[in-house]
Amino acid sequence: MSDQFISIYQTSEEQLLEKAVQDGVETMWDRKAAMKAPCGFGEKGICCRICAMGPCRISPVAGKGAQRGICGATADVIVARNLARMVAAGTASHSDHARDIAHVMHMASRDGNFKIRDEKKLLDLASEWGVKTEDRDIYEVAHEVAEIALNEFGKPFGTLRFLERAPEKRKKVWDDLQIRPRAIDREIATILHSTHIGCTGDAESLLHMSMRTALADGWGGSMIGTVFSDILYGTPVPRETESNLGVLDEKQVNIILHGHEPSLSEMIVMASLDPEMQKLAKKVGAEGINLAGMCCTGNEVTMRHGVKIAGNFYQQEMAVLTGAVEAVIVDVQCIFPSLVPITECYHTKFITTSPKAKITGATHIEFHEDRALESAKAIVREAIENFKNRKKEKVFIPTEKSSGVVGYSVEAIIKQLDKVVNPHIDPMGTIKPLADVIKAGVLRGAVGIVGCNNPKSKHDYSHIEIMKKMIANDVIVVTTGCAAQAAVKAGLTNKDARKLAGQGLATVCELVDIPPVLHLGSCVDISRIMTIVGEVAKHMDLDNSDLPVAGIAPEWMSEKAVAIANYVVATGIDTFLGITPPVTGSEEVMDIMTNRVEAMTGAKFFIEEDPHVLADKVLSRIEEKRQKLGI
Ligand code: SF4
Ligand code: SF4
Repeated sequence: MSDQFISIYQTSEEQLLEKAVQDGVETMWDRKAAMKAPCGFGEKGICCRICAMGPCRISPVAGKGAQRGICGATADVIVARNLARMVAAGTASHSDHARDIAHVMHMASRDGNFKIRDEKKLLDLASEWGVKTEDRDIYEVAHEVAEIALNEFGKPFGTLRFLERAPEKRKKVWDDLQIRPRAIDREIATILHSTHIGCTGDAESLLHMSMRTALADGWGGSMIGTVFSDILYGTPVPRETESNLGVLDEKQVNIILHGHEPSLSEMIVMASLDPEMQKLAKKVGAEGINLAGMCCTGNEVTMRHGVKIAGNFYQQEMAVLTGAVEAVIVDVQCIFPSLVPITECYHTKFITTSPKAKITGATHIEFHEDRALESAKAIVREAIENFKNRKKEKVFIPTEKSSGVVGYSVEAIIKQLDKVVNPHIDPMGTIKPLADVIKAGVLRGAVGIVGCNNPKSKHDYSHIEIMKKMIANDVIVVTTGCAAQAAVKAGLTNKDARKLAGQGLATVCELVDIPPVLHLGSCVDISRIMTIVGEVAKHMDLDNSDLPVAGIAPEWMSEKAVAIANYVVATGIDTFLGITPPVTGSEEVMDIMTNRVEAMTGAKFFIEEDPHVLADKVLSRIEEKRQKLGI
């Protein structure tokens, strides 16, 4: 078992798994073992069950066995169709998340629970979208902007508004390829239509549509999610936090916030600070309420409030195994249904809150946005009352935790960059210092390291190995999602981590006062990365694809990650996947993804499961791009 762990938290995770055996609890590892070898057809993407003539599966050996499904679909079509449906699901997830936030902004009011916290960002967006702002109440502006955003999901004409933020050269690429997404839901619906039996039967066309759908995520749903969350809950600024299971506190009511949407978690944060709730916690014998985030909800609340991070995707079961968690409060996405049987072995309450993600066996307490704080208090109360039921003999909290700085929104990064601007020479508040150090070669490039955990890879191992290699080679790292949480746990978002960086990056970190790995937020916040890359490209009068940058998903697992990878490549940024996607059953799809797409978007996919080899490939690609630019 130890082979599956990264050394920095090997001991505690091994101890927790031993505890699982003693407590008679089944974990992800038991289920993985029970799966035995994965189905080779599914692994290669060559099985299809989209109509009742099937399921069909194509022989992996050319010329031997079934070469087509009953309808005549080839392996190329089946693989591309399956991938397209992953993109659709990923785009739907990010976008539905964003739709809810836009709805919340539509109901925001001065005396309500949801308020406008970043007026400047709202006013900037209003002027970008042509909404009148003079002599108007800020909430009136907010409601009109929210309505425009809600129309982005299903407008009958035109293309998505945020695409205009991209460099001109990129927009031309999208126009030439005809992949500018129109309305978000429309792209999802169209791709589901096209992947129905007897519709698109051409792999290249399917991958082309996948990029358009994915762009509706990155430059639509995810961007709305990020921008609107900042307006409603505040644009993040750098702040200290701690991460790993050691943030759980034996003396306090421990509440794990897990899932994705910030509307719930923001209210839980407010509710837990409420004097009435604090008093109740004391009454049940606790010293207070200890919130700890997990996955992207964890990222949202740590970015804006410094709430500690219990862990990433892989650790959701581990947190319950500590026996010290009063409640796991979840909304949507990346929530293991196994939390039901696991929490049943302890006193922990597993509370679902969204009608979109009910789980049999969990306690469902619906979160109502129209009475958000009251709803959140009811949920927090349930957790506090449960403190009395904690069984001391079942508690084991590992001690490991690390501290780090989080909160690097684009605005926060630009503010840090201002530290090295001479205002007599250059304007403040621009991305120029970053472009300058890249041009000069002080920084060789920049990479976004994002994505999940996957039991096919040692926990966090690939994330950390790749991050270390990047910074040692003067490549600055921006990170989001569960990768970002891995970085905090490993101490890489700590400013002291600059000692692991090469001389160029270390100097930049010192002058600008940043760590070498910047935590940019949750998975929807990858839209922040798209924005920074676009701003640097605009500043240098280049396209994104010219820049020495790359996206890396070392331990990805979800369909959302597939959508992300597709919009990153469509945005002109090479994408390195540390887990092989289910596409190897089609030579054509592999050829398009890892080769031909470059002629279309200027970027392509690299698939490499060895993190060290992957890191070398990233570095050589960055140097290749620098050479082409003559920098
Ligand atoms: S769509 Fe074609 S390949 Fe897929 S299950 Fe139906 S018959 Fe088989
Ligand atoms: S990085 Fe992956 S596992 Fe983590 S929250 Fe995002 S989609 Fe889920």
